[in-house]
Amino acid sequence: MTDIILYMKNRDPFEKEFHQAVEEVFETVQPVLERYPDYRQAAILERLIEPERVIQFRVPWVDDESQVHVNRGYRIQMSSVIGPYKGGLRFHPSVNLSILKFLAFEQVFKNALTTLPMGGGKGGSDFNPKGRSDQEIMRFCQSFMMELFRHVGPNTDVPAGDIGVGAREIGYLFGMYKKLRYEFTGVLTGKSLGWGGSLVRPEATGFGNVYFASEMLATRGESLKGKICLVSGSGNVAQYTVEKLIELGARVVTLSDSSGYIYDEDGIDARKLDFVKRLKNERRGRIREYADKYSKAAYIETDSTLDHNPMWNYPAKCAFPSATQNEINDKDACNLINRGISLVSEGANMPSTPEAIKIFIDKKILYAPGKASNAGGVAVSGLEMSQNSMRISWPREEVDNRLKGIMKSIHKTCLDAAAEYGDPGNYLVGANIAGFVKVVNAMIDQGVV
Ligand code: NDP
Repeated sequence: MTDIILYMKNRDPFEKEFHQAVEEVFETVQPVLERYPDYRQAAILERLIEPERVIQFRVPWVDDESQVHVNRGYRIQMSSVIGPYKGGLRFHPSVNLSILKFLAFEQVFKNALTTLPMGGGKGGSDFNPKGRSDQEIMRFCQSFMMELFRHVGPNTDVPAGDIGVGAREIGYLFGMYKKLRYEFTGVLTGKSLGWGGSLVRPEATGFGNVYFASEMLATRGESLKGKICLVSGSGNVAQYTVEKLIELGARVVTLSDSSGYIYDEDGIDARKLDFVKRLKNERRGRIREYADKYSKAAYIETDSTLDHNPMWNYPAKCAFPSATQNEINDKDACNLINRGISLVSEGANMPSTPEAIKIFIDKKILYAPGKASNAGGVAVSGLEMSQNSMRISWPREEVDNRLKGIMKSIHKTCLDAAAEYGDPGNYLVGANIAGFVKVVNAMIDQGVV
């Protein structure tokens, strides 16, 4: 095991986030490797850490002042062993190969857990959409697709949204794909309802995470009703996490963006959430404006000189990190525990550092890794693909029921795998092992390819 980790680190020494994701999975699947020594000869681990394909390309585009810019575009096609590559596109200045490889690697196991036929991929660009006009966003998306279209397709690779890529961007990407390919197919998910999108797709990641959290609490005879919750982020995942938490009677007291966070002790109700949705999705404003509008709420600016994030230091029972990777470190984890947290369910991908995860597991709180708890988004993307190929649209209730069923089944799969491998109640071990076993069995069935 150490051999393969060392080999990976020596080969690509600067891919920190990718190393972190791989180490977390490989450490927890150790008992599977001991049970099946044949995996060694089949070089399973070596194959898993090498993407099937990495595509990197130039994305030139022209801003509103006629200035030309060049960004870098990527698509990581990590594994197609269970189905076409599937995973989002991220537009954010921090995007690099390491971040996309970590996301693609996580996606492989997450997609396996959904039980739907989807492989794993991820892509995006270091383009910063903040402050750009609609026309600039459109030109960027068109340029991005002018290269990507060669590598994707409804039976090959089906991208979706992620940070910085929402319904608007999916629309522009789809328009250009359709023009270049001269066909209307389900090449992207997260499309608008009027032209091939699925009901409940926008809500799916947030709702799914709350369904998963409810399942976890039920194992201890509890529910979300009346529980104080901390939610980070204020984008797609955060908004629908809050919506479902309000519906189930929880009290959400925080939201954030990269500039700071708000704390509203009275709780964010449906009316306030509606304000946040309009602020973020239509006006593309900052979360600070929440405290301008609701004067009892406090706004605290991000202070990058601190060794912790004060947002995780309020009395609460549940936390739903829904912004970005490594947003909860060991200090934050200790603060959460000291303030009474009994559940952390990850909406974002890898929001907790390895040290923070260790604290959650040692303290035996209910901890759900993103690859299980945020799988609702990709699951409904899978349902969008099915509806597109059948050329039908399922009603809201049907999609929501399927989503609930999938989250329930992922929860059970995690618990069963954890118990089978001697670590009952450990969702991290359960999710990693269950996803890993499914992917590896398919790899063995399909031979050395
Ligand atoms: P959005 O772009 O809609 O929202 C992202 C939110 O996180 C924004 O509030 C953003 O603030 C904040 N954020 C981003 N980067 C940072 C940072 N470095 N520090 C602090 N805050 C930050 O993205 P999503 O809601 O779609 O995605 C959020 C997370 O959920 C990501 O980890 C994504 O990979 C994961 N995820 C998303 C799924 C989906 O269906 N959308 C599915 C599964 C996982 P700001 O506006 O200031 O940038």
